[in-house]
Amino acid sequence: AKKDGENRFRFYNEELNKEITEYFDNMKMIIKALEEKRFVFYLQPIYDTTTLNVTGFEALVRINHPEKGIILPVKFIDIVEKSALLKDFEKYLFEMIVDYLKKMYSVFNCYYNIAINVSVNSFKTKDILLYAKNIPQELIRFVNIEVTERVFAENTEDIIYVLNELKSLGFTIEIDDFGTGYSSLSYIEKIPTDIIKIDMSFVRKINQCSKTKAVVKTIIELAKGLGLKTIAEGVETAEQYNILKALGCDFVQGYYFAKPLSLDDVLSYIKEKKHI
Ligand code: C2E
Ligand code: CA
Ligand code: CA
Ligand code: CA
Repeated sequence: AKKDGENRFRFYNEELNKEITEYFDNMKMIIKALEEKRFVFYLQPIYDTTTLNVTGFEALVRINHPEKGIILPVKFIDIVEKSALLKDFEKYLFEMIVDYLKKMYSVFNCYYNIAINVSVNSFKTKDILLYAKNIPQELIRFVNIEVTERVFAENTEDIIYVLNELKSLGFTIEIDDFGTGYSSLSYIEKIPTDIIKIDMSFVRKINQCSKTKAVVKTIIELAKGLGLKTIAEGVETAEQYNILKALGCDFVQGYYFAKPLSLDDVLSYIKEKKHI
């Protein structure tokens, strides 16, 4: 029995070591990425459901790693959000968004709306207000701020205060992952928002499950009743798109139309579209 216990201990120990090593490796990579300014945004186009014109983009962060290539947020975003690195990280992303807006302007002679994802923690600490104030006044109306519905899990009043501040500065607010929380109906009429993003988990099932379709229909009607716009995310098939269009969803986003693209690809992608 004793030997057995030792083996088990060794096993857990090795697992734990592996986890800790991985954590510190990722942490080192993130710090280096911050120092060397290796964070980039990939931009995923968002389309008007009826005209299929590109109306804007969602900015999705990646690390452009010198050896490993493009690293997705699943590898680093949790670590960043739970660490003291968050301030530098989000401050940097808010500077970068201004850069992207200007670069796009220099090519297209017009601004596109870009949505930036902001962590729940920056809402709790109100740090988001500091970053937001670094956006030049004339560009604020082109920046949408996305925050996940989970932000309302606690302290709703403080969050509402921050959202009101952002709105009065001129930002557009989007509630991300809508429908995945559990208290949507109790808060939705109280929160200052402009856009609801219908979570991918609904979109994925919308063509197979009549109940899911009924839920999405209700979300869209609710949004309309409150004067809010809707974006469906994760649209992967023509069938899903057609259902969303029939239900009156305002905007669509997903692999069926375009994946998140590098800035260079966006610049050529839109040029191409304009020729059509
Ligand atoms: P999210 O905000 O819900 O973003 C949508 C995710 O779905 C993105 O993954 C996007 O690439 C992916 N996606 C888009 N269309 C489709 C589709 O048709 N099918 C499928 N299967 N997936 C699709 P990504 O870029 O890996 O980002 C994952 C999450 O990381 C985001 O989820 C967001 O929560 C977080 N994140 C991304 N960028 C940032 C950022 O700049 N700041 C913060 N705080 N979080 C970010
Ligand atoms: Ca998002
Ligand atoms: Ca989302
Ligand atoms: Ca999500």
